[in-house]
Amino acid sequence: MAINELPTILEGLARLLTTSSRDWGEYAPDAWLYAVLVGWDCEETEHSEACVHGALEEQAARHGWDALTVAKARRYRDAVRAVLDAPAQHRPAVSRWRVETLDNLAGEWAPGTGWPVRGAAVERFEALNAQAPRWKDGTPVTRRLVRETTTYTVEAETGPAAGARQDGAQP
Ligand SMILES: [Zn+2]
Repeated sequence: MAINELPTILEGLARLLTTSSRDWGEYAPDAWLYAVLVGWDCEETEHSEACVHGALEEQAARHGWDALTVAKARRYRDAVRAVLDAPAQHRPAVSRWRVETLDNLAGEWAPGTGWPVRGAAVERFEALNAQAPRWKDGTPVTRRLVRETTTYTVEAETGPAAGARQDGAQP
């Protein structure tokens, strides 16, 4: 789904801004892009001497943003962060389809080749049933089609969002 691309898109835009030598505070439209995509506020979880605080207020004074506009900047920034912090969305789930055969003696399902497209696995399933409907001793072969789904979760401290984030400091 296209919406799965959103974290990647937002991360890329933020990286574009933070790695640019442009003064994102000079013009109001630039300052607004920075406010939403990167954020002027300090986003460190533990504040230190190196922190820059009050950058958003500085931008507000510079560009004539009122309290509502400042609140909106923080709200939009929070929404962007929420998308970036949703770990499962960093990569969409991937499915493969397999034809499994029941091993009558062991009572276990033996997996076959994985197919990235369901149609290919269905074709295989139908072909196998047509070509080899029975075991050598004449008992019918039981097959089933299974879908295997792999999901991805970015482990908290290692996510790219943690490293890409800068302080509110201007470049
Ligand atoms: Zn701070």
